[in-house]
Amino acid sequence: MNIEGYLEAVDRIMPSLASLNEAVFATPELGFEEVESSRAHVDALRAAGFEVEYPYMGMPTAFRAEYRGSAPGPSVTGPSVTGPSVAGPSVAFLAEYDALPGIGHGCAHNLLGTASTGAGIALSSRIDAIGGSVVVFGTPAEETSGAKVAMAEGGAFDGLDAAVVAHPAEEHYRSGSSLALSAMQFEFIGKASHAGSSPELGVNALNGVIGLFNAVNAMRGHIRSDSRIHGIISEGGVAANIVPERAVARFYVRSPAKAYIATLETMMRACATSAAEAVGAEVRITNYEASYDDLLTNGALSGAYEGNLLSAGVPRVMAPRSSFGSLDVGNVSYRCPAIHPYFKISETPIVAHTREFAAASVTPYALSSLRLVVAAMAKTGADVIEDSGLRASIRNEFEEATKGLVKAAHA
Ligand SMILES: [Zn+2]
Ligand SMILES: [Zn+2]
Repeated sequence: MNIEGYLEAVDRIMPSLASLNEAVFATPELGFEEVESSRAHVDALRAAGFEVEYPYMGMPTAFRAEYRGSAPGPSVTGPSVTGPSVAGPSVAFLAEYDALPGIGHGCAHNLLGTASTGAGIALSSRIDAIGGSVVVFGTPAEETSGAKVAMAEGGAFDGLDAAVVAHPAEEHYRSGSSLALSAMQFEFIGKASHAGSSPELGVNALNGVIGLFNAVNAMRGHIRSDSRIHGIISEGGVAANIVPERAVARFYVRSPAKAYIATLETMMRACATSAAEAVGAEVRITNYEASYDDLLTNGALSGAYEGNLLSAGVPRVMAPRSSFGSLDVGNVSYRCPAIHPYFKISETPIVAHTREFAAASVTPYALSSLRLVVAAMAKTGADVIEDSGLRASIRNEFEEATKGLVKAAHA
């Protein structure tokens, strides 16, 4: 079926996609609290005949919805499908629906989630004819401690032939990369004492934190220039006349290369233990949020999607924007071939994480863009299922990019 067929399929469901988008927009819920939003998606998918697991992997606002065709599907050769619950080629769309504190859907995950659920439903109408299966994952809390990390670790994406998620933006951008991230916490433990009358009896935990910052700042001049280390002091004592017995620093350590994160973590640990030793304190080092992998964009999958987007009527797709942010879809991209392109939701320049961005996500312009994106996502899913050559080149590229890395990272 050509792109016109998919646009017609999308046109039939546009009224329900518009109301799903509106409903999630009107009830902004923070990460892991997306009770109404996840339910709205699940209702739409069940109504379209999907089999839904909800809650999923112990997360009340996560779900896994699958539509499997009655046809046997194209035969699968080679290492294409290895997952436990997957028979025949299988593609996934990743829905997000968490909001931001204070500004509601300032990242437009209402529209992002609607695109993925819409693509799943549009593709499901073809699955009976072409075989294989389509899965829509509800993935909570992208803005905080992204659920995709735990889902990836739990094997949710293993064996899939492709995973696609398209994010609202001010332009159409090809899928690029994002930074791997480790969220490191350093808790220094000292000993309280009267800071004026008996400072010699105290151990100053805050001095440990200050020593850590100085050591990190010295180290900063000798790390890869594409990496980032930035932190705060989240606890630094309670009163000036008490020697701080507890002080806590939190850092984000980021790099385009997941392997280099481990090097940076080792350096950070050395900075912290030497700072602790210098002041006689103890230090406990933990991860306070899930660690994100860098995004490995699958070029073959990205090319297929872009071709479909252009033939759906998008006039141009820009080169990937250089990103110094981190995305939880990075972890997905180490488990199966994945892309995370952006789509344009406003005719005028606009910035994410603002009220203007939220407002743009429910405009007629955003919906007209959504229509093209949903059709292109659905057709790309069908291409992966129907075209064994495309599927093989996507798989080969994935195997090449992740060679040796997945095991090392999860050891
Ligand atoms: Zn955001
Ligand atoms: Zn976002």
